[in-house]
Amino acid sequence: MSLSLQGKTFVIMGVANKRSIAWGIAQSLDKAGANIIFTYAGERFEKPVRDLVATLEGKHELVLPCDVTNDEDVERCFATIGETVGKVDGLAHCIAFAKTEELAGNFSDTSREGFLLAHNISAFSLTVVAKAVKPLMTEGGSIVTLTYLGGEKVVPNYNIMGVAKASLDMSVRYLAADLGRYNIRVNAISAGPIRTLSAKGVSDFNSVLKEIEERAPLRRNTTPEEVGDTALFLFSQLSRGITGETIHCDSGFHIL
Ligand code: NAD
Repeated sequence: MSLSLQGKTFVIMGVANKRSIAWGIAQSLDKAGANIIFTYAGERFEKPVRDLVATLEGKHELVLPCDVTNDEDVERCFATIGETVGKVDGLAHCIAFAKTEELAGNFSDTSREGFLLAHNISAFSLTVVAKAVKPLMTEGGSIVTLTYLGGEKVVPNYNIMGVAKASLDMSVRYLAADLGRYNIRVNAISAGPIRTLSAKGVSDFNSVLKEIEERAPLRRNTTPEEVGDTALFLFSQLSRGITGETIHCDSGFHIL
């Protein structure tokens, strides 16, 4: 990979384990020589995330807790980042959550609590972290989030997460419109289905993977590494003219 992010600092939010898409992004950025700050959801993720980070080529010392539903946590996290590194060049938001029981069956059975929870963690959190990182992007920046086709079209069992992704997709456009004047770009990668901890929650996920293999233009499933390299492009100067965009990294499945 010839793209270099040497001397640039990125915040990656949402590594849970080695299957996480955020980890694919971390590997691409690490290879490009970036300085990376990691944030994790809660205490139980600290050790696994620190162990993974230790396997990277670069030395990335800042690994911080940040539950995006907790304003104090977010404030504390970005204050620490500001005090330690000063300037941030990019942020990867790789965070979503919905109740497993609402990722199956009838969408019309979605509970009020489940609806609000999915939107709070999976959509509103992008606005929360964009606001928190903005003062640190003193030389402009690039914010990248992860979305899915289920926010554009009805995908069986994706249910409430699809509605939350639609909200996330529109948040990307409103944030891009807001932050463009500061040379901060905001884009989404719509990833094809990948077997991760979160994906396990979606009922009958194996059939979705099988369908991609059989029907997607590239006839294969998306890998976290492919998404990582798409993020690398969005974090690099090569994408400097792109904001408010959703790039599909899904073997072309969305065109069908
Ligand atoms: P993952 O389970 O590895 O990552 C989800 C992350 O969200 C975890 O690290 C989890 O700790 C974090 N999270 C949940 N609640 C949080 C909170 N309150 N505060 C902070 N972090 C919290 O799964 P993944 O598939 O890598 O998911 C990353 C993103 O990619 C999600 O937005 C997901 O919707 C999106 N995505 C996934 C797929 C797929 O098929 N796996 C496809 C398209 C988009």
